[in-house]
Amino acid sequence: MTTSAESKTVLVTGASSGIGEATARRLAGLGHRLLLGARRTARLASLSEELRAGGSSVAHRELDVTSLDSVHAFAAAGIEEYGRIDVLINNAGVMPLSPIADLRIAEWEQMIDVNLRGVLYGIAAVLPHMQHQGGGHIVNVASTSGHRVDPTAAVYCATKFGVVALSEGLRQESRDIRVTVVSPGFTQSELTHHGGSAEARAAARAAAEQLAIPASAIADAIAFAVDQPMHVDVNELIVRPAAQG
Ligand code: NDP
Repeated sequence: MTTSAESKTVLVTGASSGIGEATARRLAGLGHRLLLGARRTARLASLSEELRAGGSSVAHRELDVTSLDSVHAFAAAGIEEYGRIDVLINNAGVMPLSPIADLRIAEWEQMIDVNLRGVLYGIAAVLPHMQHQGGGHIVNVASTSGHRVDPTAAVYCATKFGVVALSEGLRQESRDIRVTVVSPGFTQSELTHHGGSAEARAAARAAAEQLAIPASAIADAIAFAVDQPMHVDVNELIVRPAAQG
């Protein structure tokens, strides 16, 4: 275990798979204290147990980021477990891709609720605690889709452009709160396993299988931002496969 200079209390949303799980492993390895959240609690329980067996401080709670009550309860659990919240990693996300003309409106709403509203709920739940403590760090996981638009990804891109925009706004308005956007490209995870049109999902999975980098590469970027001194704010890291256009 290579420990950080300063051990922090870190809340991670969407820690049951992919980037969130890899980030939990990386930050636990650095000696940070973690609260993990997602809907699939059995996965969180086994990850927490594994990390605790390795000597880390890790707790978990059921979390649905589309519910403000659930997100508030998650933040309250962070305070209850550790007495403070130094870092929130707003990582939970969904990507059911389809052309707009398919009018898969329930999936548009799901992307807006999880990817955009969920990030705002996370900010709302931790900001008062961080202000009270005199500082904190919010890391929002956006995407290369927060910088470019591709067919079948218009709504997903809209949510990720939104995450980039609201992160920059929060950064401009803050003095004691650090704000970081981490924007991954194709990364190995379960993101392409759920929802969307069959054609779009197959295309995304084929691209991911050909190109995707391990989720640990994104976890390393998040850990880099988290471990900077409190007066240093890494504003954005874009991490993508070398061969991604
Ligand atoms: P995964 O599908 O592996 O992980 C997504 C995570 O989000 C899961 O832990 C899932 O947990 C959680 N989640 C989904 N809905 C909710 C909800 N309503 N409440 C709480 N948690 C929820 O994909 P990734 O690891 O790839 O995704 C992580 C982030 O990275 C996302 O924001 C995604 O947009 C972003 N990203 C990923 C890229 C990639 O290529 N993989 C590229 C660019 C960005 P559960 O289902 O248990 O609730």
